[in-house]
Amino acid sequence: MSTQPFVPRDDTHDKHDHETLDILTAMDTVAAMEPEPQNPAAVATGSNRPIGPTGRPMPKLAHPAPRETHGPARIIAMCNQKGGVGKTTTTINLGASLAEFGRRVLLVDFDPQGSLSVGLGVNPYEIEKSVYSLLMDRDVSLADVVVKTNVPGLDLLPSNIDLSAAEVQLVNEVAREQALSRALAPAVPEYDFIIIDCQPSLGLLTVNALTAANGIIVPMECEFFALRGVAMLVETISKVQDRLNPGLEIDGLVATMYDSRTLHSREVLARLVEAFEDKVFHTAISRTVRFPETTVAGEPITTFASSSGGAYSYRELAKEVLTRCPGT
Ligand code: ADP
Ligand code: MG
Repeated sequence: MSTQPFVPRDDTHDKHDHETLDILTAMDTVAAMEPEPQNPAAVATGSNRPIGPTGRPMPKLAHPAPRETHGPARIIAMCNQKGGVGKTTTTINLGASLAEFGRRVLLVDFDPQGSLSVGLGVNPYEIEKSVYSLLMDRDVSLADVVVKTNVPGLDLLPSNIDLSAAEVQLVNEVAREQALSRALAPAVPEYDFIIIDCQPSLGLLTVNALTAANGIIVPMECEFFALRGVAMLVETISKVQDRLNPGLEIDGLVATMYDSRTLHSREVLARLVEAFEDKVFHTAISRTVRFPETTVAGEPITTFASSSGGAYSYRELAKEVLTRCPGT
């Protein structure tokens, strides 16, 4: 069988069209240089990499180089005002994967529901000091609140329902949008990443997270209605950029609850790439019951089911984040 790619003839063009000839010559050259068998879909995009779930060639992501020193941290807000899209799951498992790669990671539970704390095996009602105390009480220091998790290098600032009072109490404070940024400042030299798990709203707590952050990651459920709320989120982000935090960037959007067997999932992901192009991470997180199981177990999937597809995906996502964020 010929190893040359099949190129359909296009009779609508002049046979001597230079552009077509150039492309054909380039493809022949690539085919001649490339000893590996060609992936037909990849040939169409001019790459020899397999096509990923986003319809683009999947990059080969190198194992991250270890770090000799730590800090200053990149602060990432995990943000989407819709609930149940995978913010908390992504915070835990991206954080745990970055920690596996030798990064020092601090996770901030910034949702009064305390799901991040629960997901890491911390009972939100048994904690003495929480993010609320850190925000509201000047005598409370970061070290009083930080909890070590069972994953080496992964720490947590836990929260519980008390945090919902902060939203009301902060309204009357001077520089109320900068409260979290001030509270996290002492952690910046100590960690490589600080990831803030936001609540599902665009209220004052989320504005605090966006003001403290260098970057945002938006988890998006592969469902038709997922795209509807994004315009509002983008508007909030640009308001925060204008008024409070000009350096804020969107680090990326990550598709969650992806099911490669359904046309629906693939279509939603294609629309996402159409709208946000390279901002969409190549890695999509598949829908699997292993994630709800990890919540019950109170640990990341990377330790609970270390060789599962879900653990693999979050490690790949971590590699993408390390590639996208220089200096991390
Ligand atoms: P959010 O923080 O945005 O509200 P969560 O991360 O808490 O979302 O996820 C909501 C629910 O969906 C949880 O029960 C979680 O275990 C589950 N879940 C998250 N990601 C996945 C996934 N990829 N596949 C299946 N279930 C998931
Ligand atoms: Mg959550």
